Amino acid sequence: MNIAVCVKQVPDTASPGRLDPTTHTLERSGKLMLDPSDEFGVEMALQLVQAAGGGEVTLVSMAPHGEISGLRTALAMGADKAILISDEGLQGSDALGTAKVLAKALQRVQADLILAATESTDGYTGTLPVQVAELLGLPSITFAKRVRIEGQKVLVDRQTETGFDEVECPLPALVTVTAGVVEPRYPSFKGIMAAKSRPIEQLKVADLDLSTDDVGWHGAGQEIVSVEPAEARQAGEIVVDEGDGHERIVAFLEQLKVI
Ligand SMILES: Cc1cc2nc3c(=O)[nH]c(=O)nc-3n(C[C@H](O)[C@H](O)[C@H](O)COP(=O)(O)OP(=O)(O)OC[C@H]3O[C@@H](n4cnc5c(N)ncnc54)[C@H](O)[C@@H]3O)c2cc1C
Repeated sequence: MNIAVCVKQVPDTASPGRLDPTTHTLERSGKLMLDPSDEFGVEMALQLVQAAGGGEVTLVSMAPHGEISGLRTALAMGADKAILISDEGLQGSDALGTAKVLAKALQRVQADLILAATESTDGYTGTLPVQVAELLGLPSITFAKRVRIEGQKVLVDRQTETGFDEVECPLPALVTVTAGVVEPRYPSFKGIMAAKSRPIEQLKVADLDLSTDDVGWHGAGQEIVSVEPAEARQAGEIVVDEGDGHERIVAFLEQLKVI
């Protein structure tokens, strides 16, 4: 069982992000880290390969300035190898441009299963994985909260608003996992040392049979026209029950048109 995991490397999630004042894109010039959303995909892949009795976990990431810190973290968790696509020409790539790049890199891996997070923690359009599946002509299942492999099929409990659906599809396929699908392990000291010698293949746009007209600022069909701070949450109202609490709650819900 060979599994590829899309892993995004993002600016430190503990610090407030900075936006480029002209392009409104996130400032990614500093050190990047493994997106916490993707720890779940990496852990899921490691567990599925172990359950299958063998195979490889390959990480695929597109990131600026040859960044590999996040990949090293995922390799230290136990992934076998990684592919990094980093190229000046990728600057300004929108979600579809990124998907084109990852799809081309994933074609080289020929994995039985591709995993990604449902959404990243910085851009979080939540559109990239299904775009990759479409470009590769693969079936995709999103919002997985449980994933199993049975023969040539992937079985998924798919999170819904009211519970979950049981969905299955033939392999190869792409599945996006939600936070909490598994408990990601911490890299051990042995894992950190082993990660230093695990291979990271570094690719440019030209290696992927793509042109810089398909990706980067040239290829972007999306433009970020402005960014506004999120509205501050208003303080809630505390209702002291003086015998009419239920009536006030009903009136409040009616006002919201919930009932
Ligand atoms: C006009 C425009 C210009 C932009 N310019 C830049 C830029 O110059 N530099 C820049 O870094 N970003 C840029 N972005 C943002 C960039 O396009 C998105 O971050 C990227 O497309 C992924 O989208 P997302 O975070 O919404 O992914 P989502 O769909 O929310 O991600 C879901 C999952 O897909 C996988 N995934 C997503 N991105 C990657 C990745 N890069 N590598 C591997 N796996 C991934 C991960 O598993 C992730 O959890 C730009 C966006 C626009 C609209």
